[in-house]
Amino acid sequence: MLRSGESNRPAAYPRGVCRVCLKRPEIPEERYGRCEQCVKAGRIAFRFRVLPARGGNGLTVRAGELSPRALRQKWREPLLGFHGQASMRPHLGLHELEMVTAKDRIESLRIAPDLGGRGAEVLAALRDAAERTDASW
Ligand SMILES: [Zn+2]
Repeated sequence: MLRSGESNRPAAYPRGVCRVCLKRPEIPEERYGRCEQCVKAGRIAFRFRVLPARGGNGLTVRAGELSPRALRQKWREPLLGFHGQASMRPHLGLHELEMVTAKDRIESLRIAPDLGGRGAEVLAALRDAAERTDASW
């Protein structure tokens, strides 16, 4: 898992800044590290780690802030309907992917610089992960 100890927040996040918009100040102790506007808009950023799949073909999700089962239950359908482009974002660490949701829809996918140009593979990996019924990665 990406979670560490007492904090829900992976170490790489800029401190004090909303995890979703990366601009406005976060509300202290807010569950998803968000600012007031992102809470109101129902936006959440879920972070995952994607690594090369066994056998060397494509990518696979290896860790995430959502379990495979939770991903499947809520996001399988929206992922199938998502046709946006993943954008490269420097705040993400090696192999990291962020799925930004707004209420019931997927707003965007953000990928680390090392995954640049592999947006389609990242989306495929996330869709594969949403087919899994495992409780953990
Ligand atoms: Zn925000």
